[in-house]
Amino acid sequence: MTVEKRMIILENNYIPHKTYHLNTTEKIYLGNKEDKKCRFCKKTEPEVLFNKIAHAIPEFVNNHNLLSYYECDSCNSKFARTIETHMGDYMNPNHTMSQVRGKKGVPSVRKGGEKSRIDLKKDGLKIQAHDGEREIFDFDEVNKTITLKTIRATYIPIAIYKCLTKMALTIIDESELENFRNTLEWINEEQHDNSRFSLNNLKCFYSFTPGPLPHDFTSCLLFKRKEEHKDNVPYMIFLLAYGNYTFQIYLPLSNKDSGEIQFTAIPTPFDSKNEFGAPKYKILDFSSTEKVKNEEVKLQLSYERFEDLEIDNEE
Ligand SMILES: [Zn+2]
Repeated sequence: MTVEKRMIILENNYIPHKTYHLNTTEKIYLGNKEDKKCRFCKKTEPEVLFNKIAHAIPEFVNNHNLLSYYECDSCNSKFARTIETHMGDYMNPNHTMSQVRGKKGVPSVRKGGEKSRIDLKKDGLKIQAHDGEREIFDFDEVNKTITLKTIRATYIPIAIYKCLTKMALTIIDESELENFRNTLEWINEEQHDNSRFSLNNLKCFYSFTPGPLPHDFTSCLLFKRKEEHKDNVPYMIFLLAYGNYTFQIYLPLSNKDSGEIQFTAIPTPFDSKNEFGAPKYKILDFSSTEKVKNEEVKLQLSYERFEDLEIDNEE
């Protein structure tokens, strides 16, 4: 679908509900410091604590400034374990290539038990390949491209969709939460394969835009369906853009949605700003509750200069 068509669908059906462009160094706190209540478990102090700094969207999507007062420490650790780790693992190889900084800096790529690894150093990517191990790259010296091949850590697709949904439910206005009671319950479920809800169409519009960090800050946006909408679209859609990536989902299980709904992608910041090439869109199906193991990821990048380094035997 063309950008123009997507723009028309957006204009006919949606109004912006929340917009955050995290391009300042100032911290933004959501919620009320004096009246802390967790919006995920509905508990207050002293039943739960609010000592940890809760990031409204995870640090691995390059968020260091958007924080919330309405996520308790227990929910914070639970979501980190049940959903965020899956999206972090899924995107880890991509983040190394595009230099997105998480909590511990840019992540390295390596497979457990192997010495071959890819790290981002000050002066470029450092690739260590060892004989007898899986091949980790291909060079194309004519086109000056390198294809890196790596294996993703085990992840569960539906947990990634929940992770994106949780980001949306964190930035959403308090007054809208009553329209997402089931959605809240769904993201709170710890057993992804033993759910009260049956969801089998969790499609995510994903895009990759080439070039050195076309979007050097993170944006997250929520759109709400207009009263007078033209198409049968979902009540709310969420867009996340950071680094070279965008993710778009609709918020499932809203009591404002019924019947067949048609979810189409809306324009992203990269559709207008992409000096190194237009975004490549892909639909990712995150419906599965099964673990995905040993998935190969191939990432192609162009390089300026290639140096063959002696491997330091002490490492
Ligand atoms: Zn809580």
